[in-house]
This record gives sequence, structure tokens and C-alpha cells, in this order.
Amino acid sequence: MVNKSLWEKLSKELTAMGVTLVAVSKTKPVEDIQELYDLGQRHFGENYVQELVSKQETLPADIHWHYIGHLQSNKVKYIAPFVHLIHAVDSFKLLLEIDKQAAKFKRTIDVLLQLHIADEDTKFGMDEKEIFSFMDYYTAQRASLQHVRICGLMGMASNVENETKLRAEFSRLKNVFIHLKETSFLGKEHFNTCSMGMSSDYKIAIEEGSNMVRIGSMLFGSR
Ligand SMILES: *Cc1c(COP(=O)(O)O)cnc(C)c1O
Repeated sequence: MVNKSLWEKLSKELTAMGVTLVAVSKTKPVEDIQELYDLGQRHFGENYVQELVSKQETLPADIHWHYIGHLQSNKVKYIAPFVHLIHAVDSFKLLLEIDKQAAKFKRTIDVLLQLHIADEDTKFGMDEKEIFSFMDYYTAQRASLQHVRICGLMGMASNVENETKLRAEFSRLKNVFIHLKETSFLGKEHFNTCSMGMSSDYKIAIEEGSNMVRIGSMLFGSR
């Protein structure tokens, strides 16, 4: 069940703050997506490749599809023709594959690097050290990576209610974001996006500097 009045309110609030709302529609039917689309929502997030591909085929072509889940290199080819932003790049190998597939479709694909901020093993992503060595590889091979653009960072906080802990995790991501923006050549390019915050913690994430939130259950109901 789509909560339309909540969408209207939320979307207004977020727009006023310069925060992009990605409506996370995973497991939800195309009818639900169409309902929000009709109200004006354009950014939708999915985290299963097959599901995303089949939804993209039936829904309006001007939807900006975000791939927010863990992406396997061998599946990049299926979403490369249309994906708007890949949120969770966590290896250089994956970046190389995205570049390769994007080139085939004569596109440049925007991506975010996933920083592991939760203290749970189940969440993917790189730690600071891995992100910095990733950046070293990228800097060295940049000339040959013309079809991919690193636009910022993404993170998922621990699944807890402790606000102090959530704040600390989001602020850790923001600090890495600022550091990369100031110290690498990315700062002068398209490095502008901090994707953090979901239904349960998006307010805290915004207070800690998020400018893109990924919200599912609050809009579409529980999964
Ligand atoms: C499912 C999911 C969300 C949305 O979670 P909700 O709690 O439903 O808002 C956000 N980000 C990622 C990466 C997800 O997989």
C-alpha cells in the first residue's frame, strides 16, 4: 500500500533541503511504482538485477533507476543500458566491469563507492583504507576509465535505534566524503553525492550531511 500523503509531505520537505529522495521499490509491484510516478516521483531504487530489468521494461522510460544492492560483476551487463546510478561499488574489479559495459552502450555510468560504516558483518562495502587504495588504482588508471564517473559515497548504518551510534556512523561517512572531495581530483569533478539514510534513520542521516536518502517501507509499506 502506497502512502501518498506521506510522499507528498516528505518529497516537499526533502526538496526544500536539497536532498534527493530515492523511493526504494524492491519487492513491490509495478502498480505501486506507477502510483508514485504519477504523483511526480522519478528516482526509484532496486536491489535485485532481474527484478529491476523487468520493471524497467514495463514502466515509463524517464524513471531514474538506482541500483542500491550488492552488484556482482557478471550482472552489470543487464543494467548497463539504462541504470542511472549504481550506489554500492565495493571493488575495483566491479568498477572496471561497469566501465567496460558502459562503453558497449556508449554511456557514462555514475557510481558511488560504498563505505562500510555499520559494525555488522552482513553489510558490504570498503573500509577507509580500502577506499583510499581504490582511489590510488583509480587515479593511476583513470585515463582508460572514460565510461564511469565516481559521484560520491554510499553507506548503511547499523540496524539499531541508538541515535548516538547512528550519528557517529553517518558522520564517519561524511568525513571520508569531505576528505576525498578536498584531497583528490574528484572534488573538482562530479563528486557531490552522499547517499545515506533509510526509513528508520533518514532524519539523522540528513542532519549528519546526507543529500540522498533511500526510503522504502515508509512509502510502500513493510516488505
Ligand atoms: C531496502 C533498502 C533500503 C530501504 O530500506 P527501508 O527500511 O525500507 O526504507 C535502503 N537502502 C538499501 C541499500 C536497501 O537495500
